[in-house]
Amino acid sequence: MKALIEGQTGTWEIVIGLEVHAQVSSESKLFSGASTAFGAKPNTQVSLIDAAMPGMLPVINQHCVRQAIKTGLGINATVNLKSVFDRKNYFYPDLPQGYQISQYKHPIIGEGTLTIVSEEGEKEIGIERIHLEQDAGKSMHDQHPSKSFIDLNRSGVALMEIVSKPDMRSAGEAAAYIRKLRSIMRYLGTCDGNMQEGSLRCDVNVSVRKIGEELGTRCEIKNVNSIRFVQQAIDYESRRQVELLETGDSIDQETRLFDASTGQTRSMRSKEEAHDYRYFPDPDLLPLEFSQNYVDEIKAELPELPDHKRDRFIAEFGLSAEDADTLVEEKATAEFYEELSNGRDKKLAANWVITELFGALNKSGIGLRESKVDAHNLGSLIDLISDGTISGRIAKDVFGEIFESGGSANSIVERKGLRQISDSGQLTDLIDAVLSENQDKVTEFREGKDKLFGFFVGQVMKRSQGQANPKLVNELLKEKLAG
Ligand code: ADP
Ligand code: MG
Repeated sequence: MKALIEGQTGTWEIVIGLEVHAQVSSESKLFSGASTAFGAKPNTQVSLIDAAMPGMLPVINQHCVRQAIKTGLGINATVNLKSVFDRKNYFYPDLPQGYQISQYKHPIIGEGTLTIVSEEGEKEIGIERIHLEQDAGKSMHDQHPSKSFIDLNRSGVALMEIVSKPDMRSAGEAAAYIRKLRSIMRYLGTCDGNMQEGSLRCDVNVSVRKIGEELGTRCEIKNVNSIRFVQQAIDYESRRQVELLETGDSIDQETRLFDASTGQTRSMRSKEEAHDYRYFPDPDLLPLEFSQNYVDEIKAELPELPDHKRDRFIAEFGLSAEDADTLVEEKATAEFYEELSNGRDKKLAANWVITELFGALNKSGIGLRESKVDAHNLGSLIDLISDGTISGRIAKDVFGEIFESGGSANSIVERKGLRQISDSGQLTDLIDAVLSENQDKVTEFREGKDKLFGFFVGQVMKRSQGQANPKLVNELLKEKLAG
């Protein structure tokens, strides 16, 4: 992922600011009691308020307010004890009110920060604000040759718009920012972060400048719905801008669309200004006010967040920073690891999760939740390694079986007779057999060809079908060969 662009006239820096629209996890909408469940038949989750029937009045959903406060606390932001809902006026068929209720001058959450780790290292990204707003409905133009349809199920669903400062400098940093934000919100339970279902969408602002110069004119790429597309859009858009600037053209500040089929961005409209929207405080809603006490109570209930968990895994469990990062990104994985490693060797448990389990999940394309592996059966497998019942080699086979068909490690080991052979009598028999079959090599070894030791160990392991205890084999072999 290139952070800088080498042009004809010098080196260009990419500047990125993101506006993330995160759907608040809530059973009902921001100003009505209608359901927010995903995938329902069109127009089955629309109250009179969401359809903007004359005379209907919005009523604030307190749960959504709490969710926004939680999110703000999760990014160390200021929570504004007073905020105001405004009408953002524009006409669109899927917006029956003729305005969107949003927050403008006085958002619920002020400045905060987020720490990201990308190829460029660790970095703090500033967050400008989070405001609460309602989502619009959906226009459908491809159902009928000459008609368009409107689905108002999304109309009125609560969104948090999370606006970053223009602090990112590469597509990789932007991706890391979205992942981190999503991870924090999933820990908090404030947004499920599901980009395929539209719970997380991104407006990507991109400009370029020569290092050390003022910020350049930006373009805003609307509604990008996957992290990969965000990266592609940034790469394409920054190169486009550099090419224009290098040939003496200027950048028009505009709103652009990303086309996933070509990987390109194209112009949609010139940028609208705030005054175009005729923002004014919504007379149907009182300003939102709460006490510091209310905020403190919410703060006291926050779960442990990924940064804290990561530091704890490093300090208390002795994990590497890289392993800790991998384990904490998804809340479900972190919880799985904590349950698994409880009372067991922390590093061994981390290795099994990261290498074997993640490897198998990636290969089969399923998630932890759908897998047959759980903290109980993987835990008992690790116990069998720790107490010497099976070797690490055999453990991988047993794991493969658990992954495929489930079941307990103990019963697989018993059924298949995979117990490690630690009986010295049995091992001595195996060793004697190997040595007598390889008399010539024994002689060579005794004449000083030390390297052959590994060969003998290998032969014994093979003969035992991987079940010999390698440590004991080593010891016994040494004695035999010395004698
Ligand atoms: P608007 O409300 O018009 O969309 P904002 O000032 O709220 O404008 O900024 C929107 C987003 O654009 C923010 O995420 C901000 O970081 C980003 N941004 C502002 N200036 C630039 C710039 N020169 N280059 C890239 N991103 C920018
Ligand atoms: Mg904007």
